[in-house]
Amino acid sequence: MTYVIVALCEREGSCVEVCPVECIVEGNPEAEWPTYMIDPDGCIDCGACVAECPYDAIFPDDEVPEEYAAATELNARFFTEGPGYDAA
Ligand code: SF4
Repeated sequence: MTYVIVALCEREGSCVEVCPVECIVEGNPEAEWPTYMIDPDGCIDCGACVAECPYDAIFPDDEVPEEYAAATELNARFFTEGPGYDAA
């Protein structure tokens, strides 16, 4: 499993501060990667980031609302095809 950041993200960034494995990266460039992103291979499913997000933009991947379903692939693709950790 992993956690996923959806389009509700306003790039506030406090999730990054609490992630114990530093697997959350600010999506850059913003036009292409509009939210912060979670590396699905790094996430240890601790859930700490969920409580920090003032926009309730983070979900376990099996609870992502249907209207935000595209976010799961977007987060993963950021780390495989996008800049990933190099964007930090
Ligand atoms: Fe990081 Fe935990 Fe959030 Fe996964 S669930 S992104 S490990 S803070």
